[in-house]
Amino acid sequence: MSLTIYNTLHRKKEIFEPIKPPHVGMYVCGPTVYGDAHLGHARPAITFDIVFRYLMHLGYKVRYVRNITDVGHLVNDADAGEDKIGKKARLEELEPMEVVKYYTDRYHKNMDQLNILHPSIEPTASGHMIEQIEMVRKIIENGFAYEAKGSIYFDVEKYNKDHNYGKLSGRKIEELRENTRELAGQEEKKNSFDFALWKKADPTHLMHWPSPWSEGFPGWHMECSAMGAKYLGETFDIHGGGMDLLFPHHESEIAQANAANGHDAVKYWMHNNMITVEGQKMGKSLNNFITLDEFFSGNQEKLTRAYSPMTIRFFILQAHYRSTVDFSNEALQAAEKGMKKLFETVKLINNLQVSKTSSVEVQPFEALCVKAMDDDFNTPIVLAHLFDLSRIINQVNDGSATLTAKDIEFVKSLYNTWLIGLLGLHDEKGEDDSQLVEYLMGTILELRASAKVNKDYATADKIRDELAKLNIQIKDTKDGAKWGFK
Ligand code: ZN
Repeated sequence: MSLTIYNTLHRKKEIFEPIKPPHVGMYVCGPTVYGDAHLGHARPAITFDIVFRYLMHLGYKVRYVRNITDVGHLVNDADAGEDKIGKKARLEELEPMEVVKYYTDRYHKNMDQLNILHPSIEPTASGHMIEQIEMVRKIIENGFAYEAKGSIYFDVEKYNKDHNYGKLSGRKIEELRENTRELAGQEEKKNSFDFALWKKADPTHLMHWPSPWSEGFPGWHMECSAMGAKYLGETFDIHGGGMDLLFPHHESEIAQANAANGHDAVKYWMHNNMITVEGQKMGKSLNNFITLDEFFSGNQEKLTRAYSPMTIRFFILQAHYRSTVDFSNEALQAAEKGMKKLFETVKLINNLQVSKTSSVEVQPFEALCVKAMDDDFNTPIVLAHLFDLSRIINQVNDGSATLTAKDIEFVKSLYNTWLIGLLGLHDEKGEDDSQLVEYLMGTILELRASAKVNKDYATADKIRDELAKLNIQIKDTKDGAKWGFK
C-alpha cells in the first residue's frame, strides 16, 4: 500500500514519492494577522495537521513550514488601497507590530485549543526582507519583471510566452485581460493582471523597508516563494493552502519560482475546500464569519450555543478535505453527539469481559484505516471504521460478542493510534470526570439493586427513568445491571 495525494497541479491523485526520502518538506500558507481566526482558518490548519501527523506516522522526517503574514498587504491583493494591518493599527492607535503580536498570540492559542501540532518553522514575512528582495532581483535579472516609479511588477504577458501562467488555476491570460479591472494607482503597470513583487510605499503607509528600488514593501506572493526556498530548498514536496489561494497567490508563486530559478518549486500542490454558511463562503467580506473564540463561547447571534474545540475539529474531519463543509448548528450538534459516543466506547474498553476466543474480527480494522488514509487522507472513512469498531465494543460490553485479551489490547492501541494520535481528537471531559461518573454510577446501581431486593420496584424504576432523562441506559444482565450512554 502507498499514500496517494490529489495533486491540484495535475488534477489527479498521484502516488506520493518524496524528492529526498525520508525527508519531506511541506509549506502551508498561514494567516495574515490582523483579526481573530475563524472557522475558515481552522480548516487548512486541521487539514495539514492531519497530513503532518500521518507523514510522520509513516516514518518520514517532515519539515513543516507555516508562515505568518505580518507585512501589511493591500486589500484584496489589488495592489491598491490601504493595507489590513496598517488600517487596524491606525484604528486602534497601535504600532503595526503590536497588532501583529496581539493576533499572532491569539491565533496560536486557538491552534493549541484545536490540538494542532506546532509547525517545525513559523517564519514571518517581515523577518525575511533580504530573501524577498534577493528573489525580486533575480526575477528582474532574468527579464520577467520591470520597474515603474519605484515599484517592481511581474511581467505576466512576457512570462506566459514560454511558460503557462494559469497552469494551476486553469485560468487563461485572455480571460484575465477581460476580467481584471484597471484600478486607480495602477496605471504604471503594463497590464492590469501584472502583480507587484515590490511596491513603493506611499507616505501614509505604515510598514515599509528599504530596497534597491524604493522604500516600500514586498508583494504578497513573494514571501511564500522566498521563505519556502530558504527553508525547504528550491524544490520541495508539498505546498498547501485553502482553495481560495489557488489564484492569484499560488499561481503567482509558481510563476515567481520559474522566473527566478527556471523550474517549479513544488511537486504536490494540495488545497482544502472552503467552509460555507448556508452555501456561501465564510469570510470577512461577506460578513458571515464566526470566529473560533465565538464558537468556543457561544457568543454570536448565529450560534444557538457554545461548541468545544474538539467538536469543531471532529466536525471538520467528518468531511474529506476536498469537499465543502456547510456550517449549521444542527450539523455541529450532530458532530458533538457522534464524537461523544465514540469516546464513551473508548472508555468501555478498559472494563470489557475477557474471553478465551473472539467471536468477531477486529484485526482487519488497522488495514482498513490505513487504506482510507492512504487514499488522499480520507478522514471521514477512517471515522466510519472507528464507529464500526465501536459497535463491536458495545456488543462485547453487552455480552452479544466476545474478544480475547489480545484483541482487546489491539482495539485499545488502535484507538490510541488513530483517534487520538492521527486524528488528534481527545476526550475533553478528562480522566477525573469519567472516574467520578464511574463511581457515582456504581453507587446508584447498588441503591437500585437493593431497592429491587426489597421489592421496592417504584424506586428502582424511578432511578432507571431519571437516568434515562440524562441519556443513560440501564441494562439488567445475568451479571447484574450495566449502564451506558444511549
Ligand atoms: Zn502563501
